[in-house]
Amino acid sequence: MAEQQELIPDDVKQTIKQTFFEQLKADVAIEVYTLAGINDKFNDFAVDLVRSLATLSDKIKASFHTVGDAQSQKRAVTRSPSVLIAPDKYRMRYTGAPMGEEGRSLLVAIMMASSGATILSEPSLKKLAELREKRDIQVFVSPTCPYCPQQVLAAFASVIARPDLISAEVIEIYENHDLAENLGSLTVPQTFVNAIFTGAGLQPEPAFVETLLTLKEPQMASTQISGEPQDKDLVIIGGGPAGLTAAIYAARAGLNCVVIEKSNLGGQVAITPVVENYPGYMRIGGKSLVDLIAQQASQYAEVHVGEYVTEVSKERDDGRFHLKTNHAIYNTRALLLATGVGNRALDAPGAQKFYGRGVSYCATCDGYFFKDGKKVVVVGGGNTAVTDALYLHNLGSKVTLVHWRDSLRAEARLQESLKQTGIPVLWNSEVREIHGDKVVRSVKIVDKGSGTALGMAVDGVFIAIGYIPNNEVAKQLGLEVDDLGYIKTDLATMRTSIPNVYAAGDITGAPKQIVVAVAQGSTAAMTAFEELQAEGVKKRSPEKMA
Ligand SMILES: Cc1cc2nc3c(=O)[nH]c(=O)nc-3n(C[C@H](O)[C@H](O)[C@H](O)COP(=O)(O)OP(=O)(O)OC[C@H]3O[C@@H](n4cnc5c(N)ncnc54)[C@H](O)[C@@H]3O)c2cc1C
Repeated sequence: MAEQQELIPDDVKQTIKQTFFEQLKADVAIEVYTLAGINDKFNDFAVDLVRSLATLSDKIKASFHTVGDAQSQKRAVTRSPSVLIAPDKYRMRYTGAPMGEEGRSLLVAIMMASSGATILSEPSLKKLAELREKRDIQVFVSPTCPYCPQQVLAAFASVIARPDLISAEVIEIYENHDLAENLGSLTVPQTFVNAIFTGAGLQPEPAFVETLLTLKEPQMASTQISGEPQDKDLVIIGGGPAGLTAAIYAARAGLNCVVIEKSNLGGQVAITPVVENYPGYMRIGGKSLVDLIAQQASQYAEVHVGEYVTEVSKERDDGRFHLKTNHAIYNTRALLLATGVGNRALDAPGAQKFYGRGVSYCATCDGYFFKDGKKVVVVGGGNTAVTDALYLHNLGSKVTLVHWRDSLRAEARLQESLKQTGIPVLWNSEVREIHGDKVVRSVKIVDKGSGTALGMAVDGVFIAIGYIPNNEVAKQLGLEVDDLGYIKTDLATMRTSIPNVYAAGDITGAPKQIVVAVAQGSTAAMTAFEELQAEGVKKRSPEKMA
């Protein structure tokens, strides 16, 4: 009993009870299968976790079995540990313990199994209703991958929507090395449907559902415009904290607005494991925080996921910008760009070829492949690079940091930790080439001072050399950007170089922080409201004003 309390601290138990389990409707059976001698540590974790969860609600009916017994044969369970959720009604299982980030997907899966309600959107449900053939989904995950639970939940939610045809198995790579090695790929999440590869990385829900139907990687270029052109006061491009906050302010002020998000709602916050500097929360999961913001935004404004701009007019004609997306045409009086930033890619031969096969931009996702003595280089010298180096070192990888300058930009606290670990740093050096066969085998590192080249055998290359602004739409519009490509704005109003076009968040080059993004989003929306009102926009729903 004492051990169970350690696994889930009391305050977390309380939160799980209040946030999840008090809303449980029907009983949910959870079956845990283990076999002594295989993954013992993880077997114990799976058993303790499920036992502990069962103490929080009498609706959770836990049972424990041995791989090889009659019950495991009935369920076709051969791996230890395996955790099955509501197996008489649904085919949802974890092959491996639902540890770390997957704790989140487990709780939501239990909720969905209990209510029979799926978290998929209406358009996705309509598409899934067309499915006529069996689909078996496999999602490969690691416990520290922040993108993985969302992909897992899309899979489980699809099972709930079509239990007659869809099954989902979540495979933890460390406990199932043999299965992971067959992947020929070193990145998670990675998804297969009917044993056909359908995508690496987190897919937006519409793309995920499309792959289920077509068994192919989704084509972002596919456009299907439906309906008449729509008149809007404000179109907000980007559904991260800046765009979502702007929507709350703009719609509450009475503007008719829509947010279009090409990928996943929440932007970078959705994949931030824990946020500890957002006022009001001592500590909150990034996904939980942004779900709250998204929920609030959706109360006021239309929020479209999986939608992106294909064409935009540079100037207003008839007082409106004409904007074409993959799904709609908008005639809008104003535009707000909140498109954020992406990872800066390493410009070296092999970097692109071996992406996902040893080259990674996400140490917390893919680090698990390099546990236990694998050799890796981390490229960069800022906070992210040093954090990644420390993280990989703690996992057990043999890390070398390669930095192109003679000093680090990372904060002093991180530099001190780096020194204490003894991680070697190659100063004034660049990774110039990455070589391998199916996966990365070596890198060529050049000392910029002496020009000496060094060949180093490595298994992985983690790149953390900064960001690039997502400024494609800004460029199409002809907005002024600075030398690094960030949109130039007037900080007091968030106006850009084109009248009635505003920008907010990371895309402006401001400090990359959620509080800054939400502040700029609200400022931009208020400026848009004032300027459009001055042009004669009527308030459409004055009762919503604060
Ligand atoms: C791992 C990590 C940890 C972090 N931790 C913290 C933290 O603890 N505290 C903190 O304050 N900050 C943290 N940050 C920074 C914070 O997440 C960002 O500053 C913040 O998310 C910026 O918000 P944004 O809305 O400007 O951009 P983003 O969050 O990047 O959102 C931009 C959105 O626009 C979408 N988009 C881009 N182009 C288009 C297009 N053409 N059409 C449609 N949509 C488009 C993207 O898909 C994305 O969803 C962290 C960031 C990372 C990566």
